[in-house]
Parts: sequence; structure tokens; C-alpha cells
Amino acid sequence: MGNVVKFKKPAAAGKHRGNTLCRRGFHKWRVVDTPFDSRQGRLVNRYRCTRCGAEKTEAR
Ligand SMILES: [Zn+2]
Repeated sequence: MGNVVKFKKPAAAGKHRGNTLCRRGFHKWRVVDTPFDSRQGRLVNRYRCTRCGAEKTEAR
């Protein structure tokens, strides 16, 4: 069992390419687990870019 080939991590390989997309405005949004924004007192969806870490919120 000593010949197990490790898989390369695709995240590291796609980092620069992803950031290029981010700079062009094509973020890879993912919903963050904070369904309630107490500041605005209403329900919102919060998104975070999985590549560059940018955040945005949208009322739903
Ligand atoms: Zn991004």
C-alpha cells in the first residue's frame, strides 16, 4: 500500500484563474449561513466569494 498516488488539489491550481475572473466581476458566490441581518432588521441572504472572499448581501 505504498504506491498511493496523491491527487493534486484543484483549488490551488485554479486560484489565479479564479482571481482573474473575480477582478472582471465574475465572483463565485456561495451562500453564507447568516440568514438574518440584525442591522437592517430583515431577512437577507449573505454571499461570499469562495475564491477571493468578497461578500455581498441581498434582501430576499
Ligand atoms: Zn471573487
